[in-house]
Amino acid sequence: MLPIPKWAQKYLKFRECPYCEQPTTLRGVTGLGVREQKDEETGTVSYVLTIEYVCCACEKKSVFLGQPEDGANHLDIVESILEALIRNESSQKSLPGKGNSSKISKKEVDDLLKVLNNAKSFDEVLKYIGANREPLEQDDEEANNPDQ
Ligand SMILES: [Zn+2]
Repeated sequence: MLPIPKWAQKYLKFRECPYCEQPTTLRGVTGLGVREQKDEETGTVSYVLTIEYVCCACEKKSVFLGQPEDGANHLDIVESILEALIRNESSQKSLPGKGNSSKISKKEVDDLLKVLNNAKSFDEVLKYIGANREPLEQDDEEANNPDQ
């Protein structure tokens, strides 16, 4: 499950799976991205948030689109995705002794965007926000130590 930006939740909440009509839940989000949309008539380019969704009932994948505020560009959308990810990460880590400032400062976001712009891979970004996936070593260890 991936956290989706607050502004975009209404584009997934109270909708239904296009395959089985099961009501959607925020838990089914498996992907977040940006899509470019070009108006065929005017040639104007705009951007929307893509929300990849896997239905918990029929397990089929569909994509919902979130329409950002007027004038929001692709970077604004990416920024809001990152904010949601960071907020989610920091709410799961309970750091003792630190103040409960859950609000992300502008500088933190700027730093993050800098990393994003310079990162060669998405893994680097994940590492930066402390969300890098551990390899499967732990699973191996468990496999080597069956119930005793
Ligand atoms: Zn379904």
